[in-house]
Amino acid sequence: ATEIRLASRPEGVPTHDNFEIVDTEVPSAGDNQILVRNLIMSVDPAMRGRMRDVKSYAPPFQVGEVMSGGAVGEVVESNVDDVKVGDHVLHQAGWRTHAVLDAGRYVKVDAAAAPLSTYLGVLGMPGLTAYSGLLVSAEFKPGDTVFVSGAAGAVGSLVGQLAKLKGAKRVIGSAGSAEKVRHLVEDLGFDAAFNYKDGPVAEQLHAAAPEGIDVYFDNVGGEHLEAAIDAITLHGRIAICGMISQYNATEPTPAPRNLAQVIAKRLTIRGLLVLDHWHLQQQFVEEIAPLVNSGEIKYSETFVDGIRNAPDAFLGLLSGANTGKMLVRIAD
Ligand code: NDP
Repeated sequence: ATEIRLASRPEGVPTHDNFEIVDTEVPSAGDNQILVRNLIMSVDPAMRGRMRDVKSYAPPFQVGEVMSGGAVGEVVESNVDDVKVGDHVLHQAGWRTHAVLDAGRYVKVDAAAAPLSTYLGVLGMPGLTAYSGLLVSAEFKPGDTVFVSGAAGAVGSLVGQLAKLKGAKRVIGSAGSAEKVRHLVEDLGFDAAFNYKDGPVAEQLHAAAPEGIDVYFDNVGGEHLEAAIDAITLHGRIAICGMISQYNATEPTPAPRNLAQVIAKRLTIRGLLVLDHWHLQQQFVEEIAPLVNSGEIKYSETFVDGIRNAPDAFLGLLSGANTGKMLVRIAD
């Protein structure tokens, strides 16, 4: 068995030195436990936050200990009544090839109903983040013009497509490469998209949405948020999902300099945490899974092979190596 431990806390951009790859004995399941052979694990931007020693909604990873996060695996030993060897489960003990889980610390998933990877992406936590963030936090309504940053990623790509499907007037996305911009417009049906590395976000957003935007779904923060506040219309709504441009910052980052516009424009700015919307998971899957199966909603996945390359996958995620969901294929 192999596991990835946090070797040290990053200062700024994480490096390979922050991770330690350790070979261990394959564990076995005790009473009321199962042993899972992990097949696919997720790397997520939020893991950068958990590498810091600060109190947040998820506890920090501890130096010297195995990291954790979403994974899907196959049950290879079971001492739990309703779980059989060969069942597939979704759980939070990623970053390792084998996981012993107490009863109830997993949910069964059906490999016949959808590819196992989708339970970590479009039908899983990132998908629910997009769905609840757009519909609940941003109070989306038909006719809105929607701007989403990080638009070619797991969350952003679904936000834009959902907004289109639900009657947005116009959907604009930003992403970090020409190929991603092409993908947004040609493959995912965004009305406009731009590469935020090509020039000031405010100018590019104004060119893409000359009449302004009604909703901003923020995955990035910083310059993007400031540009969105400038471009947003009266009673506009901003859902703050993530601020990935600031996750590696070593100094406090400046607030949007134009925040005072919140007053005259009567803006609503709302933080969003997917954990608060877990009750919508079933409704979300019932609504979205058929659209994914029919191809009306498209999703991309970027796979990195092998547990030993999981740090590469994570570092790549932070620098935009992924289109859609970034995943590690641990075993077949
Ligand atoms: P993504 O699949 O979007 O991957 C992260 C992407 O961020 C990269 O591909 C990269 O794309 C982009 N990025 C990296 N650095 C920067 C930067 N400096 N400026 C702009 N873009 C950058 O990840 P997820 O879909 O999993 O997550 C998207 C956002 O949603 C994150 O901010 C995350 O923290 C947040 N999130 C929040 C949740 C919540 O409950 N609040 C739950 C899940 C996610 P590019 O090539 O375009 O730069």
